[in-house]
Amino acid sequence: MYVAPRGTIDILPEDQPYWEFLRAKIAEVTALFDYRRIDVPIFEETPLYVRGVGEGTDIVDKEMYSFIDKGGRDITLRPEFTAGIVRAYVQHGMKTLPQPVKLYTLGPIFRYERVQAGRYRQHTQFDIECIGEQDPAVDLEVMSVAWELFSRIGFQGLNFQLNSTGCPKCRPNYLRVLVEYYRQHETEICADCRRRLERNPLRLLDCKVEGCQPIIEAAPHITDYLCEECAEHLALLRRYLDALDRPYTMNHRLVRGLDYYTKTVFEVWAQGIGAQNAVCGGGRYDGLAEELGGSPTPGIGFGSGMERLVLLMKEQGIQVPELPRPQVALVTIGQEAKVRALQLLNELRESGIRAVIGFGDRSLRAQLRSANRSQVAYAVILGEEELASGQVRIQDMRSDASPELIPQSDVVATLTRYLARG
Ligand SMILES: [Zn+2]
Ligand SMILES: [Zn+2]
Repeated sequence: MYVAPRGTIDILPEDQPYWEFLRAKIAEVTALFDYRRIDVPIFEETPLYVRGVGEGTDIVDKEMYSFIDKGGRDITLRPEFTAGIVRAYVQHGMKTLPQPVKLYTLGPIFRYERVQAGRYRQHTQFDIECIGEQDPAVDLEVMSVAWELFSRIGFQGLNFQLNSTGCPKCRPNYLRVLVEYYRQHETEICADCRRRLERNPLRLLDCKVEGCQPIIEAAPHITDYLCEECAEHLALLRRYLDALDRPYTMNHRLVRGLDYYTKTVFEVWAQGIGAQNAVCGGGRYDGLAEELGGSPTPGIGFGSGMERLVLLMKEQGIQVPELPRPQVALVTIGQEAKVRALQLLNELRESGIRAVIGFGDRSLRAQLRSANRSQVAYAVILGEEELASGQVRIQDMRSDASPELIPQSDVVATLTRYLARG
């Protein structure tokens, strides 16, 4: 007996209303903000992610699904979207388009993660990228896409967590101070943090180990060490957020540990059961295009995991519209009646009525029971008697009234009229 691979899930029909709802909201909000869809391949050459996500990150060090294909190429299933989209921007010369280029995408990403609730090895991500402009108003706009989307989904208690991750000019100063501070606490921190201290000190602030928390809390803040340009960028963004009354908390733990991540880094948190939950994370990456062989091009974006959104929607009791169900069921007795019913079924569907028929050789009662279960409004009953008289019986499934006898030629018109009055 086979089961889905560890860390993957089937999204069954009963969960699809949530997904359809989310896709509809995404289409609505991206159109509102003028973001255009892009789809990039599910796999790329491995070096793109090694450079674009960065060595020293958990993604590249531990989580990539990489393999050598039959042509000997080193391939990786995409572990995130930004590298592929910036690659596409450079490859297709989007620099010549009006800037910024505003893109969004939606699809599966793959990470070999430790499996836990809401964390999967294949998960679906919604992602937007705004490439080619460094105005902090762009940061505000990207954050506003997230805000608008999560508001329209119906999440409560939304707020931003905000930080700056500096730039290659000012970050080294901060890193020196941070490393100096951590050296004084080297015996108190976890083994992972001792490694981070050597390899990627910014990631020290990411540590989830209990014993490291007080040390993170008391660590120096990068915002006290920003250069003039980075400080002004942050100050303007905060001014814009204030102007729109968007609640945000400066969170000095939010960092991205690589040189091409610059300035703004943010998350959106929503009220969950008990704790707050991050529903998206993003930031600016002004050095990435250059890292991937393009000319210097600023950019900012965010990604949001759809499975987590669905979990949180259920937790919060957010209601979503049902998907269309059949309206009419055809019920037949005998082979001749079935032939005629298949014609009627076809006519109903051609006129846009969602109709189904019972398959197999089941009794009238069994067919009616199944019509009832599928919650159709009307059953069209066709037996030998009706066949002979050129009629059908129409049963209103929501009432006890006896069926109504009508000519077969009137079935479509009659049901169209009945369904229209609800
Ligand atoms: Zn700076
Ligand atoms: Zn630690």
